Amino acid sequence: MPLLPANYLPANALPPVFDVDQRYSVDLHMHSNASDGALTPTELVKLCAERGLTHMSLTDHDTMDGVDEASAAAQQAGLCLIPGCELSTRWQGINIHVVALMPGGLQGPLVEGLKQQREARIQRAEVIAERLEKMGLPNALEKARAQAGSDRPLGRPDFARALVAEGVVADWAGAFKRYLGSGKKGDVKAHWPEISEAVAWVVASGGVAVLAHPLRYGLTRRKRGLLMDAFQAAGGQSAELVSGQQNPDSTRDLARQLVERNLYASMGSDFHFPGSHAAPGSMSVIPRTAAPPIWQHSRLIHLRDAPSGMLSPGS
Ligand code: AMP
Ligand code: MN
Ligand code: MN
Ligand code: MN
Repeated sequence: MPLLPANYLPANALPPVFDVDQRYSVDLHMHSNASDGALTPTELVKLCAERGLTHMSLTDHDTMDGVDEASAAAQQAGLCLIPGCELSTRWQGINIHVVALMPGGLQGPLVEGLKQQREARIQRAEVIAERLEKMGLPNALEKARAQAGSDRPLGRPDFARALVAEGVVADWAGAFKRYLGSGKKGDVKAHWPEISEAVAWVVASGGVAVLAHPLRYGLTRRKRGLLMDAFQAAGGQSAELVSGQQNPDSTRDLARQLVERNLYASMGSDFHFPGSHAAPGSMSVIPRTAAPPIWQHSRLIHLRDAPSGMLSPGS
């Protein structure tokens, strides 16, 4: 699996510390149709290139099936692609996501880990379907499968689309609010591994474990700190300081929690499909912080020398 584009240039390297008000042409959290994204890996890479990104990671839910295609497209486009995925895990009964950045590709214990995740997702879909059938969506599994349009393991978004298509709810947001969101009947988590187990797969496989979107779990600051402690105790070394659009005060507060723990700061749009609020590379600006950029991590440091990672301010 190629790690760096053919036209590898040691020019305009990413800076060793974050500059104030600087934006970076780096997006380390995006989805393709290998999971619940709309674009093929090739289409995603092309869109990233059009938008001026220089460094990207494909982080589909619980799979790296799109990575080979994305790598080939990235090489064509002259973009630096970091193989990755977003692991579904559990911590204290909450569904927590861990982004795995895998500069060496899929290897080591993560190979088995992803097989386990695939099985878990298949079994979970059956449980979700049973529950939705009891709540007024007959043949839920077949309907979600039809929405997915491929044979990949199903996710909650496929059930959300089925609920909308059948007129059970008016829209996607309503589907999550009433049936699939955190704490609802369709939010089935029992199949996922403990966060410590998932982090161990990543670290033992040459990767960097990144706590995904820490502000999106509805946790208090204190509880978020406990999550970060547990994640770090398991070997996690980074968290997404910026995920899509965030409130600046919340981001500054999160930055302090990273600094207190010496966690590296990552960034990503969590892009899923065109026309949504997120686009590749579109995310809030990184605040003034002493947290080191993720590309300073020893396992990713070679990425700094790939093509330019800076965009002009305000772009
Ligand atoms: P799953 O991976 O099957 O657990 O589904 C989780 C995915 O559903 C997330 O990655 C989002 O793409 C989407 N999702 C989760 N919660 C919501 C929500 N409240 N509103 C809209 N989409 C959501
Ligand atoms: Mn998703
Ligand atoms: Mn997520
Ligand atoms: Mn995501």
